[in-house]
Amino acid sequence: MTLLRRKDHDMPNAKLGLDDLVSRGKAGREVSKLMTVKVPTALLARLDALAAKLRVKKTEVVVAMLNEGLDTADTELKGWKPPPKIVIPKARRCTVSGCEREKVAHGLCPTHYQAQRRAQG
Ligand SMILES: [Zn+2]
Repeated sequence: MTLLRRKDHDMPNAKLGLDDLVSRGKAGREVSKLMTVKVPTALLARLDALAAKLRVKKTEVVVAMLNEGLDTADTELKGWKPPPKIVIPKARRCTVSGCEREKVAHGLCPTHYQAQRRAQG
């Protein structure tokens, strides 16, 4: 078995915001880690365009956007709680073991009912 270890890196401007990019502000260095994410192509093009416009690295734009987005989320979601998970009473649950969806036909949820119909041809 092979264990892949990612090295931590020292990153400049970890607290970067968009204003910092515009005003070329500098923040302290912080440890960073590599994060691989899939992004829609159109978003990448916009990211490239913004980085070129501000004459900064793409990474700096991404970090600035994340910092600002997370700050906004912290502010806007203050005191917010996710709605409680809806629990279907046992008597109304699908009869397939481990399935917690509501039964709709022949004691089965839509997914398992369809699966049974397909299996029967
Ligand atoms: Zn089911």
